Amino acid sequence: MTIFSVFTQLNQAYLLVDLSDWSIPVVNARAANMLRQTEKTLESSDLWCSRLKPLLQAGMSESDLVFHIDSALYQARCSEIVAEEQRFLAINLIPFLSSSSHQRDVFALLDNLGAYVYCKDVNYNYTYANRQVCDLFGYPLEEVIGQSDARFFGADTAKALVEGSDCYVIEDGEVIEKEEINYVPGLGEYRHYLTVKKPLHNEHGEIIGLFGISTDVTELKVAERRLRDSETKLSTILDNVGAYVYIKDSERRFRYINKKTEELFGLSSDKILGMNNYELLGDIQGEEFDRTDRQVFEAGTRMACIETFNAGDDTYYYWSVKIPLENDSGEIDQYIGMSMDITEQKKLEYQVREANRALKEKVREISHLRDELHDQAIRDALTGLYNRRFMEDKVEQTFDDRRAGACTLMMIDVDHFKKVNDELGHKKGDQVLQLLATLMQDECRVEDMVCRYGGEEFLILLPATDIHVAFRKAEWIRKRYEVLVAETYPEAAGSTISIGLASAPDHGADFSSVYHCADEALYGAKSKGRNCSVMAHI
Ligand code: GH3
Ligand code: MG
Ligand code: MG
Repeated sequence: MTIFSVFTQLNQAYLLVDLSDWSIPVVNARAANMLRQTEKTLESSDLWCSRLKPLLQAGMSESDLVFHIDSALYQARCSEIVAEEQRFLAINLIPFLSSSSHQRDVFALLDNLGAYVYCKDVNYNYTYANRQVCDLFGYPLEEVIGQSDARFFGADTAKALVEGSDCYVIEDGEVIEKEEINYVPGLGEYRHYLTVKKPLHNEHGEIIGLFGISTDVTELKVAERRLRDSETKLSTILDNVGAYVYIKDSERRFRYINKKTEELFGLSSDKILGMNNYELLGDIQGEEFDRTDRQVFEAGTRMACIETFNAGDDTYYYWSVKIPLENDSGEIDQYIGMSMDITEQKKLEYQVREANRALKEKVREISHLRDELHDQAIRDALTGLYNRRFMEDKVEQTFDDRRAGACTLMMIDVDHFKKVNDELGHKKGDQVLQLLATLMQDECRVEDMVCRYGGEEFLILLPATDIHVAFRKAEWIRKRYEVLVAETYPEAAGSTISIGLASAPDHGADFSSVYHCADEALYGAKSKGRNCSVMAHI
C-alpha cells in the first residue's frame, strides 16, 4: 500500500502535496467535496495557484493556515512527511466553523455589522474580511485573502499596524483595544478606528491568527471635536460674561458654574459641582437660595428676582434670572441661572434714599423754624396773642372787608396794674396778664383778633359784630376775669379790668378813628371808677 492509497482512504479531508515539484498527487474524497476540486482541477485552480500554494511556500507549512472558499472558512493543518525518500506535505482540511448554514449566517451577520471584521494569519495576511473591509480596500474577498495590509494601506502603515498592535496579538496572545488612525489611500483621507484585536487559537491552544473588529469612529470623532470646540467657545463666553452663570438640577445641585462663580465661592468647580445650596452656603443662606430655586421648578417658567447674600457684615445683592431647561422627554430637570452683582447700585440707591430722607427732615425742620419765626414776628412772647405790629398790619384789611356790617373794637386795660406789680412782684404780674390773655382767647371766636397792644392794654377786633353784642361779651369777660383771677391767684384777688368799645362805621370808617373813640370810652370807664365797660358816644 502506497502512501497515496493511505491518504485516499482516510475518512478525514486530506490532500497530499509533493514538495519536490508542488504537484498534488492526492485529494481524497472528503477534501474534493470540501474544495469542489479533484487532483487534476485543483492543481491548476486559482485557489491553489494564487492563494494556497503561495501561503505554503511562504512558510505556512510550519503552522496552520486558515483560508476561505465561498464565504466559508477552513483551517488547513499541515504536516511534513517523508515516504520512500520523498518529502510530502499532508494537509488536513477542517471546516473552521462546524455547521455551514450557521457559518453562512455568521458571515451574513458580519457583513452587515457596520464594522470592519477581519482575520489574519500569523504572517499578518488576511484570511477573512467582511464586506465592509472589501469595500474599503476596493477588492473582492478573493483578492483580499492572503494579502497583507501593505497591499491596501502601503508598506509604512502596514508596518505600523504590525508593530503597533498585530504583533502583540500574534506573538504574545494579547487582546488589544485601541484607537487607530489610518490613512486610507482609496479614500485619500485619515480615518479613526476603534479596534479590538484578539488571538485565534486551534484546539491545542496555539495561536493561529488574529481576529479583529474595527469601528469607524471618524464621524463620531469629528462630531466630538465640534462639540468640544463649541463647548470651549461657550465656556469662553460664559467665563467672560461678567455675570455668575450656573446650572442646577431639580435637587438644586450645581451641575455647571462659570469661572466667575468659582471665584465668588473661592472653590474650584470640581468641588462645587454636585453640591446643593445648603452644602455650599450653610442652612440660613442656603434656604434663601433654595426657596427661589424651588419656585423655578414649581412654576416651570422664567423668573427674575433680587437675591441677597450675607458674608460677614457685608450684604451683597444680585439680580438673578432663572430659566428652566427641559430634558429630551420634555421634563424640566435643570435650570440655568444668571446673576448680576448689583450691590453697588443697591448701596447707591440706599444712599440716595437716606439722603432724601435727611433732606425731607431738614425741610420739615426749616419750615417749622420758619413757622416759629413767623409766630415770633406776629405774636407776643409773654401771652402768645397777636402783637401790636401784626394788629396794625391786618386791622385795615379787616375794616375794608367788613362791607356793610359793623366791626367793633374792644380796648381792655388792667386796673391799677402797677399795684399788682408793686405788691406781688413783676412775675406774678406776668402770670395775671397770661391768665387774662387765655381768658380772652377762650371767649372769642376764631375770626376775632385778640392782641396785646402794649403793657397791660389789649385790643379785640370783632368783625361783623354789633357794638351792643360786643358790649355783652365785654361784660362777660370783665366779670369772668374778676372771678378767675381771685380763684387762680387769691393774692391778686380784687384785680379788675376796664373796657372801652367803639365800632365802625358808627365811630369812624378807619382804624385810627375807631381806636381813638374806644380809647376815650376806656378813659370814661376809668373815670367812672374802673371795673366796668363803656361804649363810645356816637
Ligand atoms: P390804671 O388803672 O390807671 O391803668 O393804673 P395802672 O397802674 O394799671 O396804670 P399804669 O399805666 O400807670 O401802669 C401800668 C403798669 O403796667 C406799669 C408797668 O410796670 C406795668 N407793666 C407794663 N407791662 C408789663 C409787663 O409786661 N409785665 C408786668 N408785670 N408789668 C407790666
Ligand atoms: Mg392799667
Ligand atoms: Mg395802661
